[in-house]
Amino acid sequence: MKIANIAVQTFRYRSNTVRDSEGHGHPGPEHDAAQSLVTITTDDGASGYCFGNLPKGPLENAVKPAVLGKDPFYREKIWHELKERQRLNLATLPDRILTAVDMALWDLAGRALGQPVHKLLGATRDKAPAYASTMCGDDLPNGLATPEDYANFAIWCVKERGYPSYKLHTWQPPYPNAPSVKRDLAACAAVREALGPDVPLMLDPFHYYSREEALALAKGLEKLDYYWMEEPMDEHSMSSYVWLCENTSLPICGPETAEGKMYVRAEWIKAGACDLTRGGVWDVGGITPLMKIAHLAEAFGMRMEVHGGGVGNLHVLCAMATPGEFYERGLLHPFIDYEAVPEWLNKRDDPMDEQGFVHVSQAPGLGQDINFDYIRDNLIEAY
Ligand code: MG
Repeated sequence: MKIANIAVQTFRYRSNTVRDSEGHGHPGPEHDAAQSLVTITTDDGASGYCFGNLPKGPLENAVKPAVLGKDPFYREKIWHELKERQRLNLATLPDRILTAVDMALWDLAGRALGQPVHKLLGATRDKAPAYASTMCGDDLPNGLATPEDYANFAIWCVKERGYPSYKLHTWQPPYPNAPSVKRDLAACAAVREALGPDVPLMLDPFHYYSREEALALAKGLEKLDYYWMEEPMDEHSMSSYVWLCENTSLPICGPETAEGKMYVRAEWIKAGACDLTRGGVWDVGGITPLMKIAHLAEAFGMRMEVHGGGVGNLHVLCAMATPGEFYERGLLHPFIDYEAVPEWLNKRDDPMDEQGFVHVSQAPGLGQDINFDYIRDNLIEAY
């Protein structure tokens, strides 16, 4: 079996999420948006899919030379070849392109072998508990504009929808009076007060607080018995995280966005810069490197909390021996119907039951039920 082609279809869909000037998503008027599907096919008709962006330039110049004619089961070799092409080309070949190729190859392998990806990885479970992960704060009345809004939404998420846990993303620029340690702690306190002492709660605040501000947040969250805090400072300063971990008993989770795949996570663990490590398929270049990080964490007796939702992360979560406790479900907002099925799928790929468990698909590959008719009917570009 040899890889015969890798192709991209970009299609239109209707979105009700708008981006602020800093790139954070919020509810907004419905508008056209674009999504892409990457398809890898082999000479004997097998195929694998991943929804993700793969522009024409890097596809032709970097990806095709690394994958065409190769055995699609040589994922490790292909991943390393792409990773080596990133040197001097990181601007055009970011980790997210490696992710799209790697996930499509895992999907292809699962489809060809008739097994779901988490079982190919060595499964540990078929479902994982979720946490409700909010959008960032805003100024929308009854949205996420006040500490009380976060508390009211937490009550709905946990007591009505059944989420076992809740994570706040608080206010960030460009919203007025953001960032603010005081306001972040007021929101965290309101949520703790609303849900009582037993629900695990987490905070993901503004990412560029100073050491003193991050420590003030941590001290406040110690008192509120929060489960972890992630990324309160620039992750390029590992020393700042070592300092923070030394000065607080609050579990610190990271790195999340620092580039460097499994290598940078090994350094953070060794330096004592985190209590829980973190990574998601879209941060580190795919399922292949994320499993390395899961095993790295396991070897250090440390939890790895998976960043972000989606099928790739869900399959990894169901193949980790050291949990890796939660699936991050979101981003959620009182004005957004997260349960709505994306137009390009026939059903949601992270269904959550009433006990708050997200079930991984048992269908071959990544198990996404793709609406190919919708993609064909709304095609913007194919190459
Ligand atoms: Mg985060």
